[in-house]
Amino acid sequence: MRYIKEYSRPLIILLVFEIVAVTLWLTKNNLFYLFNFSYIGLSISLGLFLFIRKYKHARRIVQLLVGLYMLVYLGLINRENMQIEGFWYYLFTGVFEAATIHYAVAKIFGPLIFGRGWCGYACWTAMVLDFLPYKVPSAPRKNLGWIRYITFAASFLFVSALFLAKVGNIERIMFWAFIIGNIVYYTVGIMLAFMFWDNRAFCKYICPITIFLKPMSYFSLIRVKCNTDLCVSCGKCKRVCPMDVDVTDNSRKRKNGTECILCMECVRNCPKGAL
Ligand code: SF4
Ligand code: SF4
Ligand code: SF4
Repeated sequence: MRYIKEYSRPLIILLVFEIVAVTLWLTKNNLFYLFNFSYIGLSISLGLFLFIRKYKHARRIVQLLVGLYMLVYLGLINRENMQIEGFWYYLFTGVFEAATIHYAVAKIFGPLIFGRGWCGYACWTAMVLDFLPYKVPSAPRKNLGWIRYITFAASFLFVSALFLAKVGNIERIMFWAFIIGNIVYYTVGIMLAFMFWDNRAFCKYICPITIFLKPMSYFSLIRVKCNTDLCVSCGKCKRVCPMDVDVTDNSRKRKNGTECILCMECVRNCPKGAL
């Protein structure tokens, strides 16, 4: 009984993903959904289990399991463009498949429940950036968040132009857009990390997906909260946060609150167990 209680969260996550997997499998009559969501659910549950067991690299394991699956299996082998261009593409064609389901679950409606968990545990861009040396930003945050609106608009205009110009074989273009887009993301992300001494600079200033993620995660059900009775205001939690979140402020309007990627570094490092 004690074990069931202790490990209830990974079990619940697994159950939720299995419900999604079976529902999509049966409604779409496509076995892929059963495999896809079962795999992701199992990976996340394993990570949560390892986190409860206090394994230091639990988050990174999930990030690699899910990120590599998305990048290599779905993107390169199955030729699905899961980047934002792929989302616009499937949206314009009116097909509720692949990238549209992925965006709806992970990046648009899911963040109402798990905030920016995608950014902490699944994104294949951050999966690589998190290997770089600046895990905690070593320089103050820059006022460059406006760039994300430009990249968001550029992705929308790019796909719109393909449709308006009635370009043939868009699917093939989408595959190459995925390859080139990822090379650009990794190159820019790595350059920015070294320029700003911050692994997550790309996430903070450039990533177009944050246009969906930030407003939705404002309402997130799952949040890190501070027990002010236990907190001794040592500031350690803020020093280890990769996203500059003012985590001791419990209000939804806390500074950089919509940046939290639920990495749990603050929780692991709080000397008083206040988070
Ligand atoms: S902000 Fe963008 S690049 Fe960064 S982790 Fe989230 S989705 Fe990935
Ligand atoms: S690390 Fe813990 S005790 Fe220190 S400021 Fe943060 S919440 Fe409070
Ligand atoms: S360290 Fe805490 S506040 Fe900062 S991103 Fe990770 S979970 Fe969120």
